[in-house]
Amino acid sequence: MDKKLVIANWKMNIPSKGIDHFLKSVIPEMTNLQYVQPGICPPYLFIPQLFELLDNSSILLGAQNLHYEDNGAFTGEISAQLLETYCSLVIIGHSERRHLFHETDEEISKKIQTASHFNLTPILCVGENITERKNNLSSKIVTSQLITGLSKIKKPNKLIIAYEPLWAIGSGNAATPTDIELMVKVIRQVMLEKFGVESQNTVQIIYGGSVSEDNITKIITLPNMDGVLVGNASLDPLQYNNIIKNIETITT
Ligand code: PEP
Repeated sequence: MDKKLVIANWKMNIPSKGIDHFLKSVIPEMTNLQYVQPGICPPYLFIPQLFELLDNSSILLGAQNLHYEDNGAFTGEISAQLLETYCSLVIIGHSERRHLFHETDEEISKKIQTASHFNLTPILCVGENITERKNNLSSKIVTSQLITGLSKIKKPNKLIIAYEPLWAIGSGNAATPTDIELMVKVIRQVMLEKFGVESQNTVQIIYGGSVSEDNITKIITLPNMDGVLVGNASLDPLQYNNIIKNIETITT
C-alpha cells in the first residue's frame, strides 16, 4: 500500500513562528512514519533553505508552480530545470493560479509536460466553483480540466491529482465525504480511460480544501483516497503533526 500523502501548501506565507520553529516541531515527529508520506511546498525563496534543513528527513519538498519553458526571458518565473535540483514535487494549476493569474488548461498541460520531463511529480489541481456546483456541473468541469490538463502526457511515471473544490478552499468547511468520494470515482474513471489499469499504480488522488485535524479521519478513510493537500492548517506545526498522527493511528 502506498503511504498517504500529506502535502503542505504554504502559499505566500510562512508559519507564524518561522521555518526553523516549524521544522524543529515537525521533523522529530516524522521519524518512522509507516503510513504517511509528508511533503512541504513553501514559497520559492525558502526552497534551498528547506532543502538543507530537510536533509535526511522523510519530508518531500515541492514548489507551488513552474514555467513550462526550460529557460529564457520570463521575468519573475521559475523553470523545472531550476527546481529539480531541490524539489521532487510541483503543484500545477492550483485554483488561485487559474483564477487570480488566469492560467488556462492549455498552459497547465504544458506545465505538466515539462514537469514530467524533469524529475518532478506534478500535483495537478482540479475542482469546480460554487456556481458550477449549483448547476450540477462538478463532474463535467473536473473531467474537462483533466482531459485538457493531461493532454500532452501519454503515460505518467508518477502523477498526483488533487481534487480541490473552490468553494471549500480556505472556507473552513471541507467538502462532505459523499462529495469527495463521488469526485474521486470520477477522477479514477477518467484516469482508467486515459491511462489504462496501470494508472492505479501511477496516479494518486488526493483531496484539498479546509482539511484539518478535526476532519482528517473522515476524509482519509474514504475508499481510494491517497492523501490530502493542506493549506491553512499546514502553517501550524501542531495541526500539521496532528493530521499526520491521526492518519498513522487510523491506518495502524
Ligand atoms: C489549498 O489552497 O490548496 C488548500 C488546501 O487550502 P486550505 O486547506 O486552506 O483550504
